[in-house]
Formats: sequence, C-alpha cells, structure tokens
Amino acid sequence: MAVLINLLYIVASILFIFGIKMLGSAGTARRGNLLSSLGMLVAVVATLLYSGLSWWMVVTGIAIGALVGGVAAVRVKMTGMPELVALFNGSGGLASLLVGLAELSKVHAGGIEGYLAGLFAQSGVRVPDWFALAAIAGTVIIGAVTFTGSLIAFGKLSGKLDGKPVVFSGQKLITAVVALVALFAGLIMVVGADSGVGLAGGCALVLLALAIGVLMTLPIGGGDMPVVISLLNSCSGVAAAMAGFIILNNVLVVAGCLVGASGLILTVIMCRAMNRSLPNVLFGGFGSGAGPQGAAVEGEMKPASTEDAYYVLEAASHVVFVPGYGMAVAQAQHAVKELAGILEDNGCQVEFAIHPVAGRMPGHMNVLLAEADVPYEQLWEMDAINDVMESVDVAVVIGANDVVNPAAGEDPSSPIYGMPIINVHQARTVYCLKRGKGTGFSGLENALFFRENTRMLYGDAKETLSELVGQFKG
Ligand code: NDP
Repeated sequence: MAVLINLLYIVASILFIFGIKMLGSAGTARRGNLLSSLGMLVAVVATLLYSGLSWWMVVTGIAIGALVGGVAAVRVKMTGMPELVALFNGSGGLASLLVGLAELSKVHAGGIEGYLAGLFAQSGVRVPDWFALAAIAGTVIIGAVTFTGSLIAFGKLSGKLDGKPVVFSGQKLITAVVALVALFAGLIMVVGADSGVGLAGGCALVLLALAIGVLMTLPIGGGDMPVVISLLNSCSGVAAAMAGFIILNNVLVVAGCLVGASGLILTVIMCRAMNRSLPNVLFGGFGSGAGPQGAAVEGEMKPASTEDAYYVLEAASHVVFVPGYGMAVAQAQHAVKELAGILEDNGCQVEFAIHPVAGRMPGHMNVLLAEADVPYEQLWEMDAINDVMESVDVAVVIGANDVVNPAAGEDPSSPIYGMPIINVHQARTVYCLKRGKGTGFSGLENALFFRENTRMLYGDAKETLSELVGQFKG
C-alpha cells in the first residue's frame, strides 16, 4: 500500500507541475487549473488510503471545506479576489500551524523516542530528533506568521481595517527584537525536546510568531497588500512543505515547494514592475505620505465632451485602450469591448495595452478583459505597445493613472521614478476617462492629464464608454 500511495503522489506531483506550466498562457490556463485540481484529487485519494484514519473527521472536514470554499467562490466579486486569496493563504498557514501543534503535543505525550518510533512505523524513514523538532518549529513559526499576516492583509483590503500603513517610532526595532526572541524560543524548543522547558519554548514560539505576522503586516499600506499576499502565499507553501517534512508526506513537500517558489517568483515580478525592492515594499511605509512627492505639476486639465471624442475616434485609424484600476471599479470591460468592436467595424486597428501592475492584483486587467471576451491577440504587453506608441492616433486611458504617469520616466524626484510605464503621452491624442481629479494608488498628481495632447473625459468610465458607443450608433 505504501508503494501505491507514493506512486499516486508522484502522479499528483506531475499533474501539479504541468498544471502550473499551463497557467502561463491564457489559452491553456483553464485546462491547467483543471489538471492541478485533478492532481489534488489524486493526492487526497492517495492520503485516504492510509490505514487508521478517523473517517468521520475526514468527512466532516471535507464537508465544511467544500461548503465554505463553494459559497466563497460563487459569491466573491472579481474585485474581491485579493481578499479571498488572503483568507485562503491564512487558512493554509493555520492548517500548517495546527499540524505543527498536533505533532508538538504528540512529542510531549509520548516522549521524543516514542514520537520518532511512530514516524518510522508510518513512513519507514528514521529521522534524527533535532530534524523532527526543527521541522515542527519551522512549521509553527511560518504557519503562525502566515495566519495572522493574512488576516491583517484581509482586513486592510476589505476596508475592515484602515488601509494606511501603521507606522510608529521604534517599530522596526520592536519587530526585530520579537523575531530574535522567537528564534531563541524555537532553539529552546529543539534543544529542550520533550522536557517542560522544550514545551514552554514551543508555546512562546507560537505566541511570538502570531505577533510577528501582525507586526510585519500593519506597517504596509493597503495598496501594497497584493504583493504581501503573494509573499504570504509563498510562506503558506513553505509552511506546508515543512509540515510535509514533519509527517514525512512527499506530496505535501512537493506541493508546498511549488507554491513557495511560484509565490516568490510572482512577488519578485510585481516588485520589478513597480521598480521597487521587496524590502522597500515591506518596510518602506509606502502610502504614508512621508518622503519626496515629486515636482509640482503646472497647467490645466482640459475637459472634453464625448461628442468631441467621437469625432476624433471616428477619424482614427489606430486606437489603443489602456485600462487601469478605474476600469475594474466601473466594471467597464463590456462597454470597452463594445466600443472596440464598433471601431474595428469602422476600419480602425484596435489594441489593448496591459501594464503588469495595472489594477490591484496581478493579471487584473487580463481577467476582466477575458470576461468580456476581448480576443487575447488584442492584448499587448507594455514593451510591445511602447515600441509603436508614436504611431498611435488615439490612446484611451480607462481609469489608469500611475501606470501612465510620465513622471516615472522624467522626474527623478518622483517616488515612482524608474517605474516602467505605458508611454501614452507619445500618442497623437490622449483621452483620459476618470471621475474627477482623484489620484491613483501612489497618491501623486499625474502630469499626463495636463499635457497639450490630453483631453479629460470626466465621469464613471462605464457611463462615458456607453455614451461613446451611443454616439457611434447615432
Ligand atoms: P491607479 O490606482 O493609479 O488609478 C486609478 C484611477 O482610476 C484613479 O485615478 C481614479 O481617479 C480612477 N477611477 C476610479 N474609479 C473610477 C471609475 N468608476 N471610473 C473612472 N475612473 C475611475 O490605477 P493604475 O491601474 O493606473 O495603477 C495601479 C497602481 O496600483 C500602481 O501604482 C501599482 O503600483 C499599484 N499596485 C498594483 C498591484 C497589482 O498587482 N496590480 C499591486 C500593488 C500595487 P478618479 O478618482 O478621479 O476617478
């Protein structure tokens, strides 16, 4: 039976790897998701083949999980997806923490020798006591940090907590001291093994790790939470891999490592797209209003009517739409798809330019446009569209702000200087759709809106686009 279980675990691991690879392209992503789900089913079935399981507990767990997951998946709106992912990460962290605590209680109930003998009987693998205890300590600390960190991230994103960074003097020092004491407590737990001192170290470790999750996440602004969530996702994977080392479960180690690595890669990609380092995101207090705010912008914004815009768009032969967070807020993806279709019928070449951090989560714009059935070939990446921007007749910016701010390339005193942007200011005419004079996530004024070739179309993006469609339909 042990051989069969491990064979099934290998099959599950292969399905996970191919599933993740297929997520790399929109055309295969759906099948990739299905393949990974199939892998998870195989892993669960294989785990159920272990003898000595408490079936009523397994069935109760599956029923509760399926109910909560099913209701959440059906009810969540697309804009609420980052919060849901934060909660799921937190659950992953809590699950690993509970595995760590259960194993810790076994060590203290049966002694370390009895515990290691039990592991050997179950897996056929003999591990040194320090390894088992270090794996338990690692699982507890990463699981607890992931759990409380994710809860704070959820609170900030959902507006239940203030999204502003909570920064006070001596904060970094306090966090560093708590982290050092937690490491010391972990060491005591490993060295003290099954003694009372070891147990005290373990309990202190749990409490301190829970506090670290809160202390690390509170100073980070709500807008940076998607990066933090991606990092916490990576942590939940590492915690699961550690839990796999404790209970010597191969598929948990493989799946945990895959989640850990992919979460970390995504974190790095997001940081690069914002031209910020991970330490800057974690400790920079971005959004607290401190630090340089860039050169003052002079001039006036020039409002235009949808009628004016209609005449310009009607005569254009190359139009690029640049969606941003405002498109998600307005849910304007179907309206822009309709306008794009009308322009194409009019003989115009139409593209959508996608900035990697437009919106509030990775792939935010891709998901919304895919929902509206915008063909994937029409979505252009930032570098590709920038190469042809000077030949574009009209760039239509739909609720995007920071990702089209020319200060990122021109003003060294700007906090976003160096962030790659979509160079819409190089197009012949630019129309910016936004409700008013609100700033974007960075809180910065945008020089684009004051340029000679820019016209503002004020109003909710969906309503403005619908009006433009109405103008074309006569
Ligand atoms: P921004 O947050 O810079 O700007 C959004 C704009 O949308 C605002 O200026 C707002 O102006 C406008 N807006 C809001 N609601 C509507 C509406 N209903 N109709 C029309 N306009 C509306 O968005 P971007 O997408 O340009 O940039 C994303 C920012 O988020 C970047 O700074 C990025 O670094 C950051 N970020 C992104 C992450 C990601 O994974 N994508 C992760 C972390 C951070 P007004 O109020 O006047 O309408």
